[in-house]
This record gives sequence, C-alpha cells and structure tokens, in this order.
Amino acid sequence: MSELETNLDKLNTYLARFKETGVMNRIGGQDVPAQSGATFENTSPVDESYICAVAKSGATDIDAAAQAAKAAFPAWRDMPATERKKILHKIADGIVARAEEIALCECWDTGQALRFMSKAALRGAENFRFFADKAPAARDGQHLPSPTLMNITTRTPIGPIGVITPWNTPFMLSTWKIAPALAAGCTVVHKPAEFSPVTARILMEIAEEAGLPAGVWNLVNGFGEDAGKALTEHPDIKAIAFVGESKTGSMIMKQGADTLKRVHFELGGKNPVIVFDDADLDRALDAAIFMIYSLNGERCTSSSRLLVQSSIADDFLSKLTARVNNIRVGHPLDPQTEVGPLIHKTHFGKVCSYFDIAKQDGATIAAGGEALDQPGYYVKPTLFTGAKNDMRIAQEEIFGPVLTAIPFDTEEDALEIANSVQYGLTGYVWTQDITRALRFTNKLEAGMIWVNSENVRHLPTPFGGVKASGIGRDGGDWSFEFYMEQKHIGLAIGQHHIPRLGA
Ligand code: NAD
Repeated sequence: MSELETNLDKLNTYLARFKETGVMNRIGGQDVPAQSGATFENTSPVDESYICAVAKSGATDIDAAAQAAKAAFPAWRDMPATERKKILHKIADGIVARAEEIALCECWDTGQALRFMSKAALRGAENFRFFADKAPAARDGQHLPSPTLMNITTRTPIGPIGVITPWNTPFMLSTWKIAPALAAGCTVVHKPAEFSPVTARILMEIAEEAGLPAGVWNLVNGFGEDAGKALTEHPDIKAIAFVGESKTGSMIMKQGADTLKRVHFELGGKNPVIVFDDADLDRALDAAIFMIYSLNGERCTSSSRLLVQSSIADDFLSKLTARVNNIRVGHPLDPQTEVGPLIHKTHFGKVCSYFDIAKQDGATIAAGGEALDQPGYYVKPTLFTGAKNDMRIAQEEIFGPVLTAIPFDTEEDALEIANSVQYGLTGYVWTQDITRALRFTNKLEAGMIWVNSENVRHLPTPFGGVKASGIGRDGGDWSFEFYMEQKHIGLAIGQHHIPRLGA
C-alpha cells in the first residue's frame, strides 16, 4: 500500500463520524443543531466529494452561544491562573495526541499539502503552551508612585470574545486567537470559516476533554453574512478577533460600531521579497519560492511580489522559472506533494481569472498560468514576469501559488515599488549590506520584516500588519493587550490637600 493509500484509509476512519452526525454547534457544553434546523454541505477541494453536513447558524444560535459565554465568564475569569495554565497545557497535550487526525482532516477539508499541515497541528499545540505559561503573569501591572499616591495598574479580561477565522490553515489560526483569549481569562464564541469547519470541531472537543468548563468556549458554524455578522453585532461580545480579508474587516468594523466593539484584525497582504544583486542568491531563491508556493500560496504572509534588481534579474528569473515548473502538484495526502488544490470553486475561479488579467495587462506568463485538466481545484504554480507595479497582478492579493516578478534598478526604486500597495503585512529583504538593510527596513511599510530569511515565527514577537493589512498585534504580551483591560488604582499615601468646594 502506498503512503497516499494508507493516509486515505486513516482519513476515512477519522471522517466516518462526521459523515454520520455532521458538524454540529457546541454551545454550553452541548451538541446542538442550528435552531432553524438548517445545514449546508461541506465538500473536499480534492475531488469535490461530500464530506459532511454542517450547522447553518444564524442570530439565535449566536445569541445562545453569547449567553453561554457570558454565564461562564465570571468563574473562568476568577479561576486561579495556575489552574487555567494546567488546562491549557492539557489542551496542547490533546492536540499532540491527535495531530495526525487533525493534519489529515485539515488537508482533506482545505486542499493543503500534508508536508506542511502535520507541522501546523503541532504549531497549534505550541501556541497553547506558550500562552499557558504566560497566563499566571497576565494580570501583572506596574507601580507608578506619585508624591501623594501609590499608583498601581492591573489588567482584567475584557469578557466574552468573538473569534472569526478564515479557511487557510484554519486549525493553527484558531489556536493562535483562542489560546491567548483563554489564558487572559476571557470566554470565547468561535465562528470558523464555512469552507473548513472540521478541525475547529476537533479542537473544541480536545479542549473540553482537557477539562475546559462548559460554556468557556462555544462553537457556532455558518456563513459570514449571517452567523459571523450576528457575532460582531452581539452586545454581550466585547471584542472581535478576526483573521480574513481586508474588505471583510471593514464590514466588521461597521457592524460592530453600534456596540462599540474592540477589534483586532489580521487581514490581507501583497508582500514584497526584495532581492539585491549582492545577496546570497541561492538562499534568496529558495526562500522566495518557499514563501509563495508553500501552503498553495494561500498564505497571508506569502511573498507574492518578487522585486529583483535588474543586474541579476535574467539569471535569477531563469533559475526561478525552472524551479517553479518543477514544483510537485498533487494529492494533498501524498507526502511528496508540494502544492495541492485550492480551497473551493469560487476561489479557484478568482485565481484563474488573473491568468487572463496578466495577459491583458501585458505581463508574460513565464510558468504555469493554467488549471490542471482533472477534477479538483488544481492550478499550476505560476510566475508572471515583465510586470509593472500598476498592474492588477502587482497590486491585488491573488492568494494562490502565483508570483509576480518586477525588476528594479536602484534601492530607491525598490522602496517605492515595495510601498506602493494598499497592504503592509510582511517584507523580505535580501542583501549582504547591513547598512542598506537597516536603511531599507526603516522605510519599508510592513508590520513584520525578515532580512536574509523566510518568515520564521517566534511567538514572543509581535505579529500583525500596517495599512490595509490589519489593526493590532498578536504574540508575546501584545495578545493580552487586546484581550484585557488596563486598570489604574490610586491609593492615597497620606493626607494630601483635597480642594474644598462649598465649605
Ligand atoms: P474572509 O474574510 O472571506 O472570511 C474570513 C471569515 O470571516 C470567515 O469565517 C467568514 O465566514 C467570515 N465573514 C465573512 N463575512 C463576514 C461578515 N460580514 N461579518 C462577520 N464575519 C464574516 O477571508 P477568507 O477568504 O476566509 O481568508 C483569506 C483571507 O484571510 C486573505 O485575505 C488572507 O490574507 C487573510 N489572512 C490574513 C492573515 C493575517 O494574519 N494577516 C492570516 C490568514 C489569512
């Protein structure tokens, strides 16, 4: 039996129960269908086959979940942080124990290749461990004495949180938001993406098996325009942690205005990788390829624009083209596969539409530029060359295995091109000149920049974007800044003068 066949066998075992019961909501520790009884079909991007039915929830389901999260909040907030820490570590243990199930289900549900997803499950466990360890210090504050007062600060959890996640690496991104919220002492209502509901359900089960009290974490499935919208409008939900498209972020901000929602947005990107002629070009090539073609290019931090110095462009692009043509597209459960199918039909259509847009705009399709002639939403890894920065392929987030290469002459040109987009999530700079690296990163408009490196996540560092790429930062203590309120308490240390009115 091949590894692919073995993986398919295991997958079928894991999915059998979802086929039978569907993916239900979980509210207050109970499995519940949508109150209307409605469901929608979840299918696999691999072969468009049916996976399971999913609860199609609306405002009444969100209300029930928000009530459960509100009721569970005081006890969870007041539980000693060392107890919360133990539960969060147990969740991490549970993720590790079920990592294979999570990885296989995630691949089938999203089309992501197993070689990346097996690590994504373990990264989810690391997220829980990192914030578990930080939980006991989450409320720590400062001592800011003045001549008359002992001023102290502390932090308190803000309350029930709405977490709304997208379909790209949905498991890892859910842990990324939910772990710090729970560590801070908040309760959660999670609305996962409608295209990838399976692993959110597995994660929730792991949490309750680890001893998380009922109602602390509630799962409500459904579409953005009904379940998602209702969550952002609910008065008992104090903040929304959202990962998704920039235009959805803008809608959420409007929807949350009446209830003055605090928002944390991780949004889209059109991230540049800038390769100067003095760079270690072999490493730059490996990193540029990895950052756009891994995870099917469905990655917010992908290096979707290659800015390459003209003096080395021909040689660099010819090596790049050969490598792109060599990328293994295939079944996501085959361990050899590097690029799998895109998440769903609409997104597949969107990505493919850029092949014509590129031609109309006058760019060259140096590699790929077509779909695979087989079932499933497969596209060939694609490279556009000869692009100009005002073309749509250089400005818009395509969110597939598609790279747009733009040549530049000088450092000033590179900076101008890099910054002339609406987004500002990440940037990757390749040069051996440390002074140039400092000068360039200082002016590059991005929330996160790596020099001579691909994106290597380090949990204590801030993660997030500028411009249309987001609001707020995750990681380290920044996560707690979002999920908690600062409180100042001033205690008089003597009989200071109090102005007397009406005396
Ligand atoms: P999306 O915005 O379409 O959907 C994300 C989530 O929002 C889904 O759960 C969806 O149901 C929900 N939603 C949609 N409309 C809503 C509404 N009106 N109110 C409330 N919720 C609503 O995004 P997507 O297509 O699922 O994901 C891809 C996008 O996510 C890309 O733009 C990508 O760059 C971005 N992303 C950003 C980061 C980051 O860290 N910056 C990480 C991953 C993905």
